[in-house]
Amino acid sequence: MSTTTYGFDTLQIHAGSRPDPATGARQTPIYQTTAYVFRDADHAAALFNLQEVGYIYSRLTNPTVAVLQERIATLEGGVGAVCCSSGHAAQLMALFPLMGPGKNIVASTRLYGGTVTQFTQTIKRFGWSATFVDFDDLDAVKAAIDDDTRAIFCEAIANPGGYITDLDAIAPIAEAAGIPLIVDNTSATPYLCRPIEHGATLVVHSTTKYLTGNGTVTGGCVVDSGTFDWSASGKFPSLSDPEPAYHGLKFHETFGPLAFTFHGIAIGLRDLGMTMNPQAAHYTLMGIETLSLRMERHVENAVKIAKWLENDPRVDYVTYAGLESSPYHARTKTICPKGAGGLFTFAVKGGYDACMKLIDAVEIFSHVANLGDARSLIIHSASTTHRQLNENQQRAAGAAPETVRVSIGIEDADDLIADLDQALAKATA
Ligand SMILES: *Cc1c(COP(=O)(O)O)cnc(C)c1O
Repeated sequence: MSTTTYGFDTLQIHAGSRPDPATGARQTPIYQTTAYVFRDADHAAALFNLQEVGYIYSRLTNPTVAVLQERIATLEGGVGAVCCSSGHAAQLMALFPLMGPGKNIVASTRLYGGTVTQFTQTIKRFGWSATFVDFDDLDAVKAAIDDDTRAIFCEAIANPGGYITDLDAIAPIAEAAGIPLIVDNTSATPYLCRPIEHGATLVVHSTTKYLTGNGTVTGGCVVDSGTFDWSASGKFPSLSDPEPAYHGLKFHETFGPLAFTFHGIAIGLRDLGMTMNPQAAHYTLMGIETLSLRMERHVENAVKIAKWLENDPRVDYVTYAGLESSPYHARTKTICPKGAGGLFTFAVKGGYDACMKLIDAVEIFSHVANLGDARSLIIHSASTTHRQLNENQQRAAGAAPETVRVSIGIEDADDLIADLDQALAKATA
């Protein structure tokens, strides 16, 4: 279908999918197959040479996963997308074509805890590094960029919640430096924020979270805006220079705006193998059909509950950009006008110990290391997801020891408030 004229609610159901050509099946079938029969020997040779696009082997491409890729790319306003096995895989898949030994990224201090660990520890094994800066300090962002910087990385609505990155201020810095801006849009989803419209080059997702929306499967996705000129500076040889594994083919010259997407499949998935399986793609496709409806309720509930907590004497402070008291409230109007998402933290009077008691006292909220589920979730980040960070890093990341993080679900807001009320009573008794 042509996708330019339809609204978000239509696209979240239809983009990328068409009745199955073999059977007419209206819902996207789960193509549970590893390999695909070639028409003939010439067809096989053309596919392996990237002269023809088609299905070879499910480590690279699968029709169910392809529908999901097209759907997410469409919702984000990108030209193409590559799905992979998790959000963390998506981050590596986004960086892999850009980086090399000695190269670095400039990253926001306000990131998902696992991302901070991936960027401070694990990428060092590849000879890559990350410089972390406060993205509210634009001069510091500029100063952190050097000749070896290959990307700027941030989250639109930053986990654990309450912070919104001013993408309109960061994108021109990336552009002036001739490097891509990568935005992790997991917490916002394309319903609340469309980073490409604010100048992002690539958008990464943990589809594990709101896109699937029910806590069933892990997955990730890298969406390409198709707008970056990979050949302009000589900084991105994987995309601009001859690729030895494909007889000297140049991805940017050959595939134009789809260069990054084709590279992600033909090199990234082929050789790194962080593939999404068709079952996972199916669950995520089912989830995305109701994305806008769920996000509206997540936001509505989060606003109600954050306001209630803010006025409760047992709570010291609430960090939610959806509250007028938040220093980031003004940014919601430009960056995420439909709402600040469903994640936030609040500080319990009584500090660390009271937080631990609160976690054990809740009944509806589930104590899990996840977010973006239909059900409400709670965690004490400092003792769990952000445990590997020191206290300064925890505070910079918005995971101070006296706070708990909630991922507000789509249950009845009054029931959630009653649950927090009884748990706060026990925690602060
Ligand atoms: C969960 C998450 C990730 C990592 O995704 P996985 O699917 O768990 O690998 C990355 N970024 C953000 C913002 C997340 O919430």
